[in-house]
Amino acid sequence: MAGQVIRLIQGFAQSRQIRLHLHVQDSIMLHADQERIKQLLYILLDNAVKYTLEQGEITLTVKTTTVDYKPKLCIMVKDTGIGIESDDLSQIFHRFYRADKNRSRQSGGTGLGLSIAKWIIDAHRGTIHVESVSGVGSTFTVFLPIK
Ligand code: ATP
Repeated sequence: MAGQVIRLIQGFAQSRQIRLHLHVQDSIMLHADQERIKQLLYILLDNAVKYTLEQGEITLTVKTTTVDYKPKLCIMVKDTGIGIESDDLSQIFHRFYRADKNRSRQSGGTGLGLSIAKWIIDAHRGTIHVESVSGVGSTFTVFLPIK
């Protein structure tokens, strides 16, 4: 399922000389809207490439895990990009919000991606968490319940 999205992003990453490391567990059974999960993956990876400078690195991890004894799918996208200021962190899931207008504008975009990602995650009763240090990079971690 992730294969199509990864191939698309690999082309984009290569064009910007960004290395994409993949740790994707095989044959995960998830009762979910496949198209929406692909869209979610695309939004996170596309942002990682957009907000990482050339020669940077992105690591995608997709694996099953347990949280509070409940089985979950974990999707983690880690980049060595420009990072997000702590004041912006709480806002980035809001529609049309773009952190640091000057830097974000250079990369284009509408400010809708993460609000759509949040909507998809909420619809699947999942969670998303972001850790970021300005100038160092960001890690977005999603947990989705596995039935
Ligand atoms: P689009 O919706 O067209 O992709 P966008 O990337 O601006 O546009 P979002 O995906 O909603 O919109 O992201 C909101 C803001 O969060 C971005 O403008 C950017 O400032 C910040 N952001 C998101 N992902 C990252 C990341 N991986 N590294 C640094 N900043 C990020």
